[in-house]
Parts: sequence; structure tokens; C-alpha cells
Amino acid sequence: MFKAILIDKQDGQQQVGLETLDESRLPEGDVTVRVDYSTLNYKDALAITGKGPVVRTFPMVPGIDLVGTVESSTSDAYVPGDAVLLNGWGVGEAHWGGLAEKARLDSRWLIPLPSAFTPAQAMAIGTAGYTAMLSVMALEQQGVTPDQGEVLVTGANGGVGSYAIALLARLGYRVVASTGRLEEADYLEGLGAERVIDRAELSEPGRPLAKERWAGVVDSVGSHTLANALAGTRYGGTVTACGLAQGMDLPASVAPFILRGVTLAGIDSVMRPYADRVAAWRRLGELLVPEKLDAITRTIALEETIETANELLAGRIRGRVVVAIQAPSRP
Ligand code: NDP
Repeated sequence: MFKAILIDKQDGQQQVGLETLDESRLPEGDVTVRVDYSTLNYKDALAITGKGPVVRTFPMVPGIDLVGTVESSTSDAYVPGDAVLLNGWGVGEAHWGGLAEKARLDSRWLIPLPSAFTPAQAMAIGTAGYTAMLSVMALEQQGVTPDQGEVLVTGANGGVGSYAIALLARLGYRVVASTGRLEEADYLEGLGAERVIDRAELSEPGRPLAKERWAGVVDSVGSHTLANALAGTRYGGTVTACGLAQGMDLPASVAPFILRGVTLAGIDSVMRPYADRVAAWRRLGELLVPEKLDAITRTIALEETIETANELLAGRIRGRVVVAIQAPSRP
């Protein structure tokens, strides 16, 4: 038997609770993992609260991230005792996920736990930190360098935003953090932001082209914020888009693309190939100071997940939430 958050839907009504389930209910997969830690991402909160169409089959165990220890494996890639990490691949959406004491998974979705991090640290980073890394790597690939000017990070207090600030600052970029919570300015400056601006400057309908301000942008907010970020990006700059915290729409014009050569780079972490994942986690290991992760992270028990999901969607969580599922098998 194992404990899990279980989401079900009956007569069009979603129910969610902490349940004790028989292992025979675990889905297909060639690796069974004892889950040590999971996390609560924006997408998990949408799944748990039913406020977004994340879950594709019911019943579903949410949790798009997990770190655990292999219990049994018929794959050549992993043996019992191996420490593994999973981000995405539709886990927690179409396949039972990490907010449970056990998971059965396709071995191709796993990567070995990066040696730079403990299991808890890897989940403090989670999909949010890994997506921030993919976003920063996209800016680098597009030739955005620290000497070109300020880089804007939107949704600054969120998981993606917090990590984007820390990573960019570590690489020497001058980071401007856009937030609706100006009272968290000390936290954002502690992560490495040089300046903090009110997100209201960016969240209302704006002009197709605005003053050229940003050499690059990491956006996790979408909607008018992304449109205004594009309009304010300097000639030849790049804007990465990974999220929709403000909205899924993009009420923009083509002016920044055709008049300023601005690039809009889409970031998806879910289906990213194995080699890219390993490369992003290697960079995270090089750039992040593990002790600094504590400031970004709050740890909760599995029992607190549902309540915390509501807080997260209400914008009351700063940084990242780690869910301690079982006593970790290593420090
Ligand atoms: P969080 O909930 O941790 O952070 C989102 C932040 O966005 C909030 O903290 C808040 O920052 C800001 N925000 C919230 N509501 C609004 C609003 N109405 N208008 C403007 N800003 C708002 O989420 P994550 O950082 O985990 O994820 C951010 C987004 O990125 C989500 O949409 C998520 O689904 C997406 N995502 C996509 C991935 C991909 O693979 N493409 C992977 C990971 C995340 P503040 O208080 O500072 O203003």
C-alpha cells in the first residue's frame, strides 16, 4: 500500500484527496521508484484545484517532478538503489506522478540524480528551476550577452522567476525583476536582481513598440506582459516565453519582429530530449550555490499539498515548494 494525492472526476465534478492505494493500481512502467521528494509547481496546483485542464485521464496522481530511489527495474539503465530524477514527460498529467510514496515510470523519462544536488535540493529546483535554466540557455544561444544591457525577468517571485534571477545574476547579467509584490524587493535583490519594478508597468495593454529597454527577457507570465516585454526589447534582443500566469493570450503585434529583429523563443520543458535535460541540469550544478536554495524553498508534507496548491494559485507562495514524501534515503 502507498499514500498518494488522488484526483478523480465524477459527474463532471473534480474531487481530490490523500488516499491509501494498493500497489497493483500503479500504471505500466519498467521502473518502480520509492519517491523521496516531489514539488508543487504551478501546473500541479492547476491540476489539484481543477482550475486548469492539466489532467488528461482520471483518476490521476499529480506531480510533474520527483526524486526517488529505484526499488525494482526491468530496464538495463537502472538498478535497485539508483537515485533518479524526473521532470515532465506528461507525468502528473497523463501518467501517475510524484505526489505519492511510489511511482512506476518509463525508464526513458528518468535521468540520474545530478551529483551536485541532494534529493531535496533537486526538488527545490524542480521543473521551475530547470525551465529557468532552459530559458537562460536560450538567451545565450541567441547571443544575448551581459554587456548588451538589462535583462527583464517577469513573475519574479515565482519558481521560474526566482531561479531565472539567480542564474542570470550568477552569469553576470544585470537583472530587472518585475513583480506584483514590491514588498519582496529584498528577497529579489538577495537573489541578484539589480532593480525591481512593479508588474503593473507591463500588465496593461500597451503600444506595439515602446522604448528599447531590454537586451533579453525571461517571461513566465504571458498575455499583455509578454506583449509589452516584446515591445520594449532592444534591437536584435531575445524574449523567452514559458508561462501563462497572467494569461494564455498574446495580444501583440509583429512590429518588434519586423522592425527590431526581436526573437521570441518558446520554452517547453516537458518533452525536451534527454541530452538537453542532462545538459541543463549540469549547468544548474555549475551555477547554483546549493546553500542559497534554502532562501527560495519552503518544505511541506504530502498532507499539506492540497491546501498549499490553493495558496500557490492565489500568488501567496514565494519561490518554491518542496514536498517531503518519505524520509530521504541519503542526505
Ligand atoms: P509560480 O506560481 O511559482 O509563479 C508565477 C508568478 O507569476 C507569481 O509568483 C507572480 O509573480 C506572477 N503572476 C501570478 N499571477 C499573475 C498575473 N495575473 N499577472 C502577472 N503576473 C502574475 O509559477 P512557476 O514559476 O512555477 O511557473 C510560472 C509559469 O510558467 C506558469 O504558467 C507555468 O505553467 C509555466 N511553466 C511552464 C513550463 C514549460 O515547460 N513551458 C515549465 C514550468 C513552468 P509576482 O508575485 O512576482 O508578480
